[in-house]
Amino acid sequence: MQEIGHFIGGKHVAGTSGRTAIVYNPATGEVQATVALASVAEIRAAVENAKAAQPKWAATNPQRRARVFFKFVELLNKHMDELAEMLSKEHGKTIEDSKGDIIRGLEVCEFVCGIPHLAKGEFTEGAGPAIDMYSIRQPVGIGAGITPFNFPGMIPMWMFAPAIACGNAFILKPSERDPSLPIRLAELIIEAGLPAGILNVVNGDKAAVDAILADPDIAAISFVGSTPIARYVYGTAAMNGKRAQCFGGAKNHMIIMPDADMDQAVNALMGAGYGSAGERCMAISVAVPVGEDTANRLVEKLVPKIESLRIGPYTDDKADMGPLVTKDAYNRVNGLIDRGVEEGAKLVVDGRGFKLQGYEDGYFVGGSLFDHVTPSMDIYKTEIFGPVLSVVRAKNYEDALDLPMKHEYGNGVAIYTRDGDAARDFASRINIGMIGVNVPIPVPLAYHSFGGWKASSFGDLNQHGTDSIKFWTRTKTITARWPSGIKDGAEFVMPTMK
Ligand code: NAD
Repeated sequence: MQEIGHFIGGKHVAGTSGRTAIVYNPATGEVQATVALASVAEIRAAVENAKAAQPKWAATNPQRRARVFFKFVELLNKHMDELAEMLSKEHGKTIEDSKGDIIRGLEVCEFVCGIPHLAKGEFTEGAGPAIDMYSIRQPVGIGAGITPFNFPGMIPMWMFAPAIACGNAFILKPSERDPSLPIRLAELIIEAGLPAGILNVVNGDKAAVDAILADPDIAAISFVGSTPIARYVYGTAAMNGKRAQCFGGAKNHMIIMPDADMDQAVNALMGAGYGSAGERCMAISVAVPVGEDTANRLVEKLVPKIESLRIGPYTDDKADMGPLVTKDAYNRVNGLIDRGVEEGAKLVVDGRGFKLQGYEDGYFVGGSLFDHVTPSMDIYKTEIFGPVLSVVRAKNYEDALDLPMKHEYGNGVAIYTRDGDAARDFASRINIGMIGVNVPIPVPLAYHSFGGWKASSFGDLNQHGTDSIKFWTRTKTITARWPSGIKDGAEFVMPTMK
């Protein structure tokens, strides 16, 4: 059986902790590999490699650092089919969706090809008598990234691309559920010219995360995953004096106004609710039709589409969605559907018990739809992270707006309407980080920043865009006076520009 280890100092390294986790094929339930779970010593070995390599990399001029990313992008495109298959095999999502996952990461690599411009400082000539003042951005040193299972291509690249382009060395601790792709990305970036030791991939679980959080040489930590762990990583990192940005779970609503183009809204909900089997932090999991008539029309159009979803393994190139990632995820999602029934929501389409011929042991859950869900129900409050859409009927626009406003999470939200006034009012008042107007999954492109509000995000700088350059660098401001021969006496008051 395949044994997945680590990638440290530019080389594959077998695990030495004696602890491993199992990697399954979600479509068949078969064990396909084991992955090493790193100990404190293995994290330390990666940090030592990073520490030795980082100063030279930081001193490499930014154009040369950018060239590594130009080449890396080329290699990602060249190997796209192989990478997508590697991803799908462990995650379960369709090949086209895996390509989307990788391409969204590739776009961040394209963005950081502009690092010579992005990391430029600021200069003020004559800030005082013969005084110039300038600010420069220097790498933080060693950064670490802890990533979730659902985007094993995109999210590692969200983190390591800007961190490395800024001159840092990086320790990536990917999800233990789909660890192969991150290691392959590290191999490819070495082939693109990155010096060994600048990107290290160390597999592991809580023990590895705790070792990262405690390591005195790691200056900044980026985390993406569920909210309880995001909160824990943020708090611990801050207590240990590290910079941290931690992104958590979500419950994304889509408001459907009575004037919306219903076919467009229904198609949007199908893709955003059931694509990737609902295992996306920007999936729409709550539909909020405004008015009874809108709700009735919406449900009527959704039902046949959900019932005819094509569900299959990643090898079925016509499948709309695949299985869930693990048996635990399968049990959890089925349990939440049971809970919704107990709570009195109306289960209009029931995906429990879905079986695919020839894949009876796979972790498939059929598309499911609840109607008449209310805000007090667990299925409304909890992030289900499966192919389950809840309809919460709102009487009017204000009631609809109130739902995402009061929800614990604040990642993404969408409104479907033809009314520009309503859309503008919505975008302005809502307390959520990423807003779609007639766009169901409003994931910002690489040159803007990605991040939610409320319990979906801890820290103040987002992923990619200019925020990422700020996160992975420290500002230093220099005040210099030349010529140095100016003579004046000691000043005991604060100098001001009176
Ligand atoms: P998870 O929280 O279980 O795992 C995330 C990472 O934390 C993994 O690397 C894992 O090994 C590690 N981890 C797990 N338990 C830990 C513990 N007790 N202590 C320390 N580290 C631990 O998340 P997941 O199931 O892999 O991913 C799904 C979650 O991620 C969902 O909640 C989803 O909404 C969220 N997500 C959020 C975003 C975003 O940008 N906000 C993006 C993608 C996914």
